[in-house]
Amino acid sequence: MNKKVAIVGAGIAGITTAYYLARAGHEVVIYDKRKHPAMATSYGNGGQLSASNAETWNSWRSVKKGVKWLFKADAPLKINPSISIEKYTWIYRFIRAIPSAEKNTYDTCMWALAAHKLYKEIATRENLSFDMVEKGILHIYTDQSELNNARKVNKIYNKAGLERWEVSPKECLDIEPALVPPPKLLGGFYNETDFTGDIHKFCTNLLSVLVTKYNVKHVNKEVKFLNPDIPLVVCAGVNSRELAKTIGDSLPIYPVKGYSITIHNPEVAPWTSMLDDGAKIVTSRLGEDRLRVAGTAELNGYNTDIIQRRIRPLIRWSEKIFPGINTEHVTPWAGLRPMTPYMMPIVKRSKRNDNIYYNTGHGHLGWTLSAYTAQKIAEQITESSDAQK
Ligand SMILES: Cc1cc2nc3c(=O)[nH]c(=O)nc-3n(C[C@H](O)[C@H](O)[C@H](O)COP(=O)(O)OP(=O)(O)OC[C@H]3O[C@@H](n4cnc5c(N)ncnc54)[C@H](O)[C@@H]3O)c2cc1C
Repeated sequence: MNKKVAIVGAGIAGITTAYYLARAGHEVVIYDKRKHPAMATSYGNGGQLSASNAETWNSWRSVKKGVKWLFKADAPLKINPSISIEKYTWIYRFIRAIPSAEKNTYDTCMWALAAHKLYKEIATRENLSFDMVEKGILHIYTDQSELNNARKVNKIYNKAGLERWEVSPKECLDIEPALVPPPKLLGGFYNETDFTGDIHKFCTNLLSVLVTKYNVKHVNKEVKFLNPDIPLVVCAGVNSRELAKTIGDSLPIYPVKGYSITIHNPEVAPWTSMLDDGAKIVTSRLGEDRLRVAGTAELNGYNTDIIQRRIRPLIRWSEKIFPGINTEHVTPWAGLRPMTPYMMPIVKRSKRNDNIYYNTGHGHLGWTLSAYTAQKIAEQITESSDAQK
């Protein structure tokens, strides 16, 4: 008889964790303070399952850009300079993680490739639809130093197993005919295996399979402290840090805010997912009727207000790069990436309490990585429960 397991958080990390635990025969209950699943960061993200975005942000280039962008209102990265120990400790640790960037990029890329396979297995086995589009991801570059950096990073990706190659400006247009390239387009990088989909649809559809087929319980309840008498996995996104604190664990997760717009009935819009490396903007086609455009990173605490001057650059960028796009009906959204300073998720058992596990802190790649980290943490819990029999 397998043990009961509780999970805090019904976002992508919690729901995929529930899936692997339930498949291993555990009796699973998911608690979430929100009534419906995937209503926090796993609601309106960029949609990319992207091994080709595995590069961690820890570099002196990012630090220099961050400083340059401090005073630019529509910059892709904003740091609120107000005093916060949590924020400045995080920034300090971000800089200290620069020497590990190459290894972390390599590992992230491998994990993303493994997760690709797992998501496809889940979707096929459970017959899930989530507006998946398999047309690869095209990164475009208008800045020579960004392109030079991409060439270096691509070698790491290739080593990790991602087939991705450089393409000329003309080839960018062949790959995505809806694109009208910026005048200074220097070229791009393309891979065919990354794909996209609606994270919210995936989560809600998988959770209903979990409830109906695997007898998983989904309970609308806030967990205020960690004191379980059964194994419990913390998948609480940006709130994981405060929960871990209740048992004295310190998780270095900081909320990095981002925005998206969903353009409804865009008429002219790409089917190939894109990433503009200079503007730090991603696009994903979510079925016939929707284009998701996402970007920006703000270090500004736990605030999810939708600020119009942060939304406008996303609309302007879409209109510039896809002329003729219809932006009459646009839904804006803001979310908080649960980000560690070294940009790797926390997937481990607590040293303070044997019943507590963490699968959290996936940052800008929670959709890309969760199936893999969920499988890993579920294996660890299953091994431990088998050892106790
Ligand atoms: C603008 C933007 C674009 C992005 N684009 C991409 C992308 O293209 N590709 C990609 O891979 N990733 C992307 N991401 C990142 C990705 O969306 C996140 O990493 C992922 O959604 C985090 O999932 P999660 O399950 O860890 O957290 P969440 O989805 O936030 O889920 C946490 C859940 O825990 C619940 N909870 C918290 N505290 C408690 C408590 N005490 N008791 C009970 N319940 C609790 C919350 O209600 C919530 O439902 C993007 C993020 C943003 C903001």
